[in-house]
Amino acid sequence: MRGRALCPHNSATKRRGIVQLIRNYLELALHNQESALSSFTTSRTDTKQIYIGGVPIGAGAPVVVQSMTNTDTRDWQATVGQIRRLEEAGCEIVRVAILDEEAVDSLRFIKRGINIPLIADIHFDHRLALGALSAGVDGLRLNPGNIGGADRVKKVVLAARERDVPIRIGVNSGSLEKDLLARYGHPTPEAMVESALRHVKLLEDHDFDLIKISLKSSDVLSTISSYRLLSTKTKYPLHLGVTEAGTLVGGTVKSALGIGILLFEGIGDTIRVSLTSDPVEEIPVAYSILRGLRLRERGVELVSCPTCGRTEIELIPLVEKAERLLRRVRTPLKVAIMGCVVNGPGEAREADVGIAGGRGKGILFKKGERVETVPESELLTRLLTEIQEMTGERILD
Ligand code: SF4
Repeated sequence: MRGRALCPHNSATKRRGIVQLIRNYLELALHNQESALSSFTTSRTDTKQIYIGGVPIGAGAPVVVQSMTNTDTRDWQATVGQIRRLEEAGCEIVRVAILDEEAVDSLRFIKRGINIPLIADIHFDHRLALGALSAGVDGLRLNPGNIGGADRVKKVVLAARERDVPIRIGVNSGSLEKDLLARYGHPTPEAMVESALRHVKLLEDHDFDLIKISLKSSDVLSTISSYRLLSTKTKYPLHLGVTEAGTLVGGTVKSALGIGILLFEGIGDTIRVSLTSDPVEEIPVAYSILRGLRLRERGVELVSCPTCGRTEIELIPLVEKAERLLRRVRTPLKVAIMGCVVNGPGEAREADVGIAGGRGKGILFKKGERVETVPESELLTRLLTEIQEMTGERILD
């Protein structure tokens, strides 16, 4: 059976026409919505700008990608190793959990070993926050209402202000104050926002405004409603995320929905995709969300066909390996890896560089031109060599 109408990729090509129409509609809708939203919410162009180290957040700065290590912070070598892998993947700010003094002692070594700003995540103990500030962290994540009385809050806020170190308030639906739970019954968006604004006030009372806020829930719709409400009440930049989102597949979908919808509405200045996985996996997901909304252009957009009975090369392992290796690339580039010569060449021609597979071989395309036919065993290396030359970035060791 031959013929393009039967090919899953061919249907995909037709669908792309429809997707383009939807995209045009969404762009128009986004434009209209941004105008409409600007009358009653704070969009990311209106938020106050703060700096975490040298990275600007808010006031229309590019949406920043963050992550958090899952190593024991006391083991500074392991933590530095993981942060270096996060950096290579494109993480722009990293957070580490500080559970005790020993973890505080590690911060100086971690700071020396990494190239991106470092945030200390602290609960309850104001001495850990003071220690982290002395160690030179670029940001704190703590809720001032949880670190003891007014005196302790004052000490931490003054130390942060002296160093121009921002504080993120992070309200989590699982740890809302008892009185708010009693009043609202459960962690409603109103309760979450009220909690956040209480913490904000504790900081503002000491003339501190280097603030960003997150309101996290594992429920996508609650997360969206909470951030929407918060964006009508404050101009501080917002850190988006769906907490405890789940495993690679489930968490990616929940994050794409929650973070994606809010960003689409103009809400959110920095994002963290939370996955029950190696945190390095979070970074390509974050960039895929941003690329899909045309907010950031970093790295490779990989186009590959779903494979079908017409596929004549081992496409799936080829694409998986290519995807892993191409994560190192920073330059925006569209790469197509297609399974056959029926529909592959069309897609490969549209990409910056691409392969259309054939029986035991593949055709390499570059900028719409056919370059050469390559044996299947050399396809990946040939493709990666071409990308190295185009980007000037090292992929192959
Ligand atoms: Fe479409 Fe891929 Fe099948 Fe070719 S191998 S027909 S491109 S799905």
